[in-house]
Amino acid sequence: MEKYIPDVYQKSIYTIDYAKLKEKGIKCLLFDLDNTLAPYHIKGADEKLVELFSKLKEMGFQLIIFSNSFKKRVKPFKEELEVDCCANARKPQTNHFYRILKEYHLAENEVAIIGDQIMTDIVGGNRVGITTILVNPISVRDPFWTKPNRWLEKRVIKKLKNHDLFFKGRYYE
Ligand SMILES: [Mg+2]
Repeated sequence: MEKYIPDVYQKSIYTIDYAKLKEKGIKCLLFDLDNTLAPYHIKGADEKLVELFSKLKEMGFQLIIFSNSFKKRVKPFKEELEVDCCANARKPQTNHFYRILKEYHLAENEVAIIGDQIMTDIVGGNRVGITTILVNPISVRDPFWTKPNRWLEKRVIKKLKNHDLFFKGRYYE
């Protein structure tokens, strides 16, 4: 069951205590895109997001958009937010996680993934041993390819709840 449990659970990317992550030695933040940074039908970054990312850069974080979506979807965000990106990341597969650790010369304990899906973002991150941060999806609308994962996620959350391991809406750091 451990692989499904995020290290941190917050309402959104705006309620995460980034200073605390910094203190813990996190140097690089991998951000999921769809329903973490923006709803999947929105084609670019809003002002609030631009502001957050510039603040995080000032804090010294390496920021990477780490998305299972295709390049064309990720590109406007990459350009507007001026960050690196990895599209077609195929989370929860671990290949691209390991590639990034290697390319950026990072250790597992220096990286965190932030995303809205247990089955992709959290399971992938936990497999690699980086810090995993779950946030609530921005929108209830999911792209059709996410639907099977959401179905599985619901079952997993129910199981975790029965074992007193995780509750939707009970946030922790
Ligand atoms: Mg997502």
